[in-house]
Amino acid sequence: MSYGDVKTTCPYCGVGCGVIASVAADGVVSVRGDPEHPANFGRLCSKGSALAETLDLDGRLLYPEINCRNAAPTRVSWDVALDHIAQKFQSIIATHGPDAVAFYVSGQLCTEDYYVANKLMKGFIGAANIDTNSRLCMSSAVAGYKRAFGSDTVPCDYQDLELADLIVLVGANMAWCHPVLYQRIRAAREQRGTKIVVIDPRKTATCEFADLHLPLQPGTDTTLFNGLLNFLRREDYLDFAFLEAHTEGFAAALNAARASSPTLPSVAQACGLDPASVAEFYRMFARSTATVTLYSQGVNQSSAGVDKCNSIINCHLATGRIGKPGAGPFSITGQPNAMGGREVGGLANQLAAHMDFDATANIERVARFWSATNIARKPGLKAVDLFDAIHAGGVKAVWIVATNPAVSLPDANKVRAALQKCEFVVVSDCVRATDTTQYAHVLLPAAAWGEKDGSVTNSERRISRQRIFLDVPGEAKPDWWMFAQVAQRMGHAHAFGYDTPAQIFREHARLSAFENEDRRDFNLSGLAQLDDAGYRQLAPVTWPVHAAEPQAPRLFSDGKFFTPNRKARLIPITPRAPAHAPDIEYPLILNTGRVRDQWHTMTRTAKAPRLNAHEVEPCVTLHARDAQQCGVRDGALAHVASRWGSLLARVRISDEQRMGSVFVPIHWNDQFASNATVDALVNPVVDPLSGQPESKHTPVRVTPHAAAWYGFLLSRRLLAVPHVNYWVRAKGQGYYRYELAGAAKPDDWADWARALLCHSDGKAEWSEFLDKRAGRYRAARVVNNQLESCLFVAPDPALPSRTWLAGLFEQELLSDSARAGLLSGKPRQGDSDAGEVVCACFGVGGKTIQRAIENGADSVAALGEQLQAGTNCGSCIPELKKMLLRD
Ligand code: SF4
Repeated sequence: MSYGDVKTTCPYCGVGCGVIASVAADGVVSVRGDPEHPANFGRLCSKGSALAETLDLDGRLLYPEINCRNAAPTRVSWDVALDHIAQKFQSIIATHGPDAVAFYVSGQLCTEDYYVANKLMKGFIGAANIDTNSRLCMSSAVAGYKRAFGSDTVPCDYQDLELADLIVLVGANMAWCHPVLYQRIRAAREQRGTKIVVIDPRKTATCEFADLHLPLQPGTDTTLFNGLLNFLRREDYLDFAFLEAHTEGFAAALNAARASSPTLPSVAQACGLDPASVAEFYRMFARSTATVTLYSQGVNQSSAGVDKCNSIINCHLATGRIGKPGAGPFSITGQPNAMGGREVGGLANQLAAHMDFDATANIERVARFWSATNIARKPGLKAVDLFDAIHAGGVKAVWIVATNPAVSLPDANKVRAALQKCEFVVVSDCVRATDTTQYAHVLLPAAAWGEKDGSVTNSERRISRQRIFLDVPGEAKPDWWMFAQVAQRMGHAHAFGYDTPAQIFREHARLSAFENEDRRDFNLSGLAQLDDAGYRQLAPVTWPVHAAEPQAPRLFSDGKFFTPNRKARLIPITPRAPAHAPDIEYPLILNTGRVRDQWHTMTRTAKAPRLNAHEVEPCVTLHARDAQQCGVRDGALAHVASRWGSLLARVRISDEQRMGSVFVPIHWNDQFASNATVDALVNPVVDPLSGQPESKHTPVRVTPHAAAWYGFLLSRRLLAVPHVNYWVRAKGQGYYRYELAGAAKPDDWADWARALLCHSDGKAEWSEFLDKRAGRYRAARVVNNQLESCLFVAPDPALPSRTWLAGLFEQELLSDSARAGLLSGKPRQGDSDAGEVVCACFGVGGKTIQRAIENGADSVAALGEQLQAGTNCGSCIPELKKMLLRD
C-alpha cells in the first residue's frame, strides 16, 4: 500500500520534531524534516535524519509467543496469547489482590496506548501499579511544578527561547540530547545576542557557545540557586508586586536560602566554583528580565531532584519571570511522549488527566467518567519500588511495554533477578532479543514507528500526530489494541470497545474537560468533538485547547496558578547532599548520560551505520589526574565498579571531565557489548517525592584491565567471538565491527582466526601475518574479490585505523592498491582514509576534515561549504571548532 508523503513525528527525544516520511515505488523510505512543524521548521538531528535506516525487519518480533522461557517458545495466535494473559492476571488478582499485578510502560508509547493501559489498571483492575520509564527522566520536574503551581504545567514554549535575553541551561547537554532545540538557541544567539550560561559539572559540547560555564561540584545545584535567591533579594532585584499578589511562601524560602547560601564566597566554595564566575552568573540573571532556565536530567536524576527544580522555580517566582514572553522555568523531557504519559496519568502517583489521588472528588469524578467498576484509591508503586516489590514477591505479574528495564533501571542486576523470579512476565516490544525479553513468559509483537497511528506531546506541550506510512509486518499490533483486548477478556468489554485511536483520543480529550471548570490546567475540550477526519488531519497544537477559546492565552499570564488559593508557592529548600558520598574504596563519582548519536538501549539507532560511527564503544571518560591515580591509560580498558555492579569500558581521558567524576554512557547492553550496562552500577537511591533515581551520582572506582591482547575485527557476517574478555559490536556500512580484548592469548592465532572467519562461501583467498615476538597478528579473507573479513591483534591498543579498512567493504571489487595495503591496515599512495566519523549526517570523517583544514579551510562555514560537515543538525560543530583551534 502506498501512503505518499506522510507527516509524522520523530520517535526519539522530547523536542518532538515534525518529520515527512515518503515511501518510493520500490519501497525505499526517505525521511526529511517537516518545514511547517513549529518544533523544528524542517531541521532534524543526526538521529532523526537516519530514521529511514532503522526500519528494516532484522530482529523484529513479529508473532505472539508463549512459553518463552522454554528452550523452544511456542508461536500462538493472538487469541491464545491474549486469553492466556487475561486468565493469568485474573487468577493472580483473585488469589493475591489487584496490587499483585503491574504494568511498566514507556515514554515511547503514543498517548492513546498510554490512556488505555492507565484506564485498565486504575479504573478496572483497581490498583495504580502502572509506572513508566519516564519516571527515570522527568518525574522530579513533575513534582517540582506541582509543588510550586499546584499542577504539572510546563509554563514555556520553544518560542520563548527566541525571545529570551538570557538562557540558563542546567544539567542539560542539549547539543547532544536535544540537538534541534540547541540549534534554535544558537540561531537566536546569533540574531539577537542571547546570553547563554551552562551549569554542568562536565564541559559538554553545549558549552561551545556559552558565555559562561559553571562546572559545579555534582549535587550542589540547590546551594547555587538558593544563593541566587539570596543575591536577588540583597541586590533588590525581586518583583515584590508579583510576590505579593500571586505567590506565597517567599519568607520561608528566603530564610532557607540565607541559611544555606549566606554569601557569594560561601556558595562558590560549596559548589567548587570560582567566586567571580558565580558573581557573573548572578549579575547576568539579575539584569535579564527575559530569562529562561532550561533544565533536564542533570537536575531531575537526583535524590534531591525535586528540591533542585523548586530552587530554580523559586528564583523565577521571586522575580515574576513566569507567564511572560521569554521567561520561565522550562523542564525539557527526554522522551518523545513523556508529556503524553503525564497527561493521561501514566505515572503511578497520578490518577488521570492531571488529577491525582489526593482528593476523593478526583477519584469519584474519574470513576464516574470511566464507569469504572473498581477504581484505584491510592497511588501505586513507582518504578524502583515496583521492581523491588517484584523481587520481594509482592508483585507477581508484570506487563512491560516498549521499554528495557533490565538495562535502564538502577541496580539493573537486581532488576534482572526480580524478573527471573517473577511468576508471570509479559513483554510487548518491536524487538525480539533485548536484555529484558529474555525474562518474558509471553512476548507480544508491537507495531513500530511508522506502522501505528496516535499522538505524542513534546516538551512545550505540543500535541503532534504520529501517522502510519508502512504496512504492519507479521502480526504486529498497536499497544492500545493489546490492552483493550486483554481488558475485554477480563470482563470489561463495555469500557474498552475501541476500534481506532481517534476514539481513544476523543475520550481522553473529554476526560480532560470533564467537570474541569478551569480548575485543571490540562484541558482539551476544544478537541473532544474531533471527528475521524479531524483526527487524521490534526495539526500540531499546544494545550490547553479550550472549546470556548481555542487560542488560549499564555499560561500563568494572569498570575493565577492551580493551587486552591490560585497562588504559586515558593518552597523553602535546604540543600541535601547525594545519598552516597565517595570514600576510599569508591573515590570517584559516576555520572551517566547519552552520547550524540544513540538513543536509549540502541534497539533502533544501532541499526543505522552512520549513528554507530561517532562513538563506537562504551567509554569511561575521566580527567588525566584521576586516570593517573587509577593507573589507567587512554585507549586501554578499565573496570568501573560500584557497590552494586561493574562494567568494562574503553578509557578516554579528557580535561573536559571534572576531577573526581567519571562519565559512562547509558546505551550499551548485552546485545552490543560483553559487559557495559552502566545501570548495573547505579545506586538505587531515589528522590523521596518523585521516586526518580539518582543516576548522576554513584561512588565508583576505576581500575586497569589486564588485557593480554587487543584487537579488532571487521566482517561482512555477524559472528560469535569466542574466548574474549571484551567485545563490542557495531554495524557499519556493509560490515560489522568488533572491538576485542582478551586476558589470555589463544594457543595459535592462525587456528583461532581461521575457525572464526573461514566458512565455505565462494572462492576465498586467505592472507595472514604473524610477528610472534611482538605479539602481532593480522589476517584478511577475500571472497570473490571482495573483502570478507579482516582481523588485527596486538599486545597494546595501538592498532591501525579501522576506517580505511571499513571503507573497503564498499568496494565492489577490491582494488590492487587496497589488496596491497590490506595487512598493513594503511592506504597506499593515492588512497585515503576518511578517519572516524565526526559529522554523522553526511558521514564526514576526522581525517578528511583535518586535510581540509590543512588545505586552508579556516572556519566552520568553510568546512561546511567544502564537505557539508556541520550543515544539517549542527551537533558536530563543537567538534569542528575544536579541530580548527587545534590547528
Ligand atoms: Fe528527533 Fe533529533 Fe528532533 Fe529529537 S532533536 S525529535 S531526536 S530529530
